[in-house]
Amino acid sequence: MKASYKKETLPDPASEGHTYDNYTLQRDVEFCCDSLKGYYKKSSGWNYEQGKFVIVDQISYDGHTVIAIDFCPFCGEKIEYKDIDKPKKTRKQKK
Ligand SMILES: [Zn+2]
Repeated sequence: MKASYKKETLPDPASEGHTYDNYTLQRDVEFCCDSLKGYYKKSSGWNYEQGKFVIVDQISYDGHTVIAIDFCPFCGEKIEYKDIDKPKKTRKQKK
């Protein structure tokens, strides 16, 4: 499946002079399967800071940690992330 997003760089309200990136998932995403679609709708399955789908990894007292996924955890299909403002190949982000 393809996941198109729009990347915006916005001023950081918490620290002056700094910016942060915000990734907005486009609405016309065609999910590979209903399971992922359901998961995305039920939980906040999209991470605006990373521009990727995420699943909850651990839940602790401080909150929860999530991990970005490149493959659908339900059907195994690869998820291709695409920046709509960059029609050509997008660089893979590794953090
Ligand atoms: Zn799937």
